[in-house]
Amino acid sequence: MQHPKQERTLVIIKPDGVQRTLIGEIIKRLERPGLKLVAMKMCVPTEEHVEKHYTLDPEWRRITGEKRIKNAKEKGEKLETEDPLEITAVILEKLKKYMTSGPVIAMVWQGAHSTELVRKIVGGTEPRSSDVGTIRGDFVLDSYTMADTDGRAVRNLIHASGTAKESEAEINHWFKKDEIVDYRLVQEQILYDVNMDGILE
Ligand code: GDP
Ligand code: MG
Repeated sequence: MQHPKQERTLVIIKPDGVQRTLIGEIIKRLERPGLKLVAMKMCVPTEEHVEKHYTLDPEWRRITGEKRIKNAKEKGEKLETEDPLEITAVILEKLKKYMTSGPVIAMVWQGAHSTELVRKIVGGTEPRSSDVGTIRGDFVLDSYTMADTDGRAVRNLIHASGTAKESEAEINHWFKKDEIVDYRLVQEQILYDVNMDGILE
């Protein structure tokens, strides 16, 4: 079994995050708890690349559709369809437009429980309800209602893999093996080493 500190996860600063000049702020927030940046690139993805990214997990369509239905019920909102797959078919088309509208920053972050930790720092999908203190909660104000009314994807600045399995598949989709760097940060001695040796003189 791999040690928890070896877990890697994919993060993408979406086109609105780049346009809002939040690259530095987002990297700062991910570095802060001790995560290590092991790969990074800027690119304008193609629609094919974005569609593949969101459908790597065969369950994504169902889960995302169900999340929207649950939210609509809570808000007393009526959706055009109650079929999760019909909902995500529309979302996916909007997502392709959104994600290819400008440059994005794709990154791989490594550290203990990195997938879970990054999701905590990023916050929930809908900025309207994302917690204060999270990236989505602090820097943007979009909602499902507004995005669906205006016929576009929810602008939430950032993508982060949802599970450790999703992380692995998404990293392989965005990066070649030799684009990811294996190296040690000096601070890892304090974060992970069993004995904190070598401090006292
Ligand atoms: P994430 O993992 O938190 O990014 O959320 P999902 O994987 O469920 O959805 C992917 C992306 O699709 C989200 O980050 C939003 O940009 C967009 N999105 C998800 N659900 C909806 C929706 O119901 N309506 C609209 N307009 N966009 C959505
Ligand atoms: Mg997701």
